[in-house]
Amino acid sequence: NKGVVLKAHPKGMPKVDEHFELVDRTIDIENLKLGENEFVLRNLYLSLDPYVRLTLKEHEPKHERTINKASKKQLVQIGQIIIGAGVSEIIKTNNPNFKVGDLVYALNLGWEEYSHIKSDATSNFFFINKDLLKDIPLSYFASFIKRGGLAPYASLKYIGKPKEGETIFVSAAAGFVGQLVGQIAKIKGLRVVGSAGSDEKVDYLLNELKFDAAFNYKKTDLNKALSEYCPNGIDIYYENVGGQTLETVLNHCNQFSRIVVCGMISQYNLPFNEKYGVKNLEIIFLRSITMQGFIVSQYLGTDIQNEFEKDFTEWIKAGKIVYREKVIDGIENIAEGFVNLFDGRNIGRTIVKVSDY
Ligand code: NDP
Repeated sequence: NKGVVLKAHPKGMPKVDEHFELVDRTIDIENLKLGENEFVLRNLYLSLDPYVRLTLKEHEPKHERTINKASKKQLVQIGQIIIGAGVSEIIKTNNPNFKVGDLVYALNLGWEEYSHIKSDATSNFFFINKDLLKDIPLSYFASFIKRGGLAPYASLKYIGKPKEGETIFVSAAAGFVGQLVGQIAKIKGLRVVGSAGSDEKVDYLLNELKFDAAFNYKKTDLNKALSEYCPNGIDIYYENVGGQTLETVLNHCNQFSRIVVCGMISQYNLPFNEKYGVKNLEIIFLRSITMQGFIVSQYLGTDIQNEFEKDFTEWIKAGKIVYREKVIDGIENIAEGFVNLFDGRNIGRTIVKVSDY
């Protein structure tokens, strides 16, 4: 059973050789005696999520208030398998609610070929209806149909509250979340403007995803670009980046606008004392702005998840959602795929194919 463990806690950018180690730990599946509610899963596809970087840091009691209790529990120790999520096949269980051969999207996996799940299994498992596989590739369930797409769908709908004709600005727009937010916003009739870090990504946003405007934030002054592309101001800012980007965007936000805080990727690799202090937060009350964050798990298992799956499967079948994913082959390449999330090379979602189905 090949897997990847944490070798050392990264301080800045994670590095494949310094911080990760490929191990091969035998698991005797045939003779393994399972306790109640235990499972052995064969992992098929694992998704690569930037938030995992937050679980790799050393616990710093001094800065405890920066992480909530749940994420403290998730911190990975040296020698432990890195946490992961994705699509798996149940190959052994004595839980009567599941059977061997079922496909599930599981939240509590590791970066490994087989996962022996010992506790809190069922609330972290979501059945995959095999009938859908004739229209939708299995990899899409790891990428976005179960959890990934729920983040942009639910947060835009319930925090962003989009109205036809409004303007939305999306940062990291060619990333996994950004590309879906932009397309959902187009379906809802908004003017969609996005920023991304390369000309290739800008081209993808304009020509494939049909954004109304997009620009390369590394080549363009953000303030000028927002004045030009959002002439009526911003009604919804979909925040993926944080730091100085947030500070600049705030100046363009309209009265009663909404800021959906999905993530702040520009801050994740910075030590606490070097995180960017946004200087114009008073605009939030001066313009009656609502700024709200969320964690996708709060929507899992709710009616919103059902709404999302229904809308998304219809949109995909109708060709309303263009979707790009990068599939990396083999668990031995997972650490490299993860590290590359932070250098801006990826367009859309990166997932790892661990095993054939
Ligand atoms: P992706 O890995 O798909 O894309 C990340 C992109 O962010 C990169 O390709 C890069 O694109 C951009 N980026 C990376 N570093 C920086 C930086 N320092 N400054 C500006 N841009 C940067 O990410 P996702 O779409 O999966 O995630 C986007 C955000 O949403 C993240 O902050 C993530 O943590 C968060 N998230 C939150 C969830 C929740 O439940 N709240 C759920 C899922 C994701 P570019 O070339 O444009 O710079």
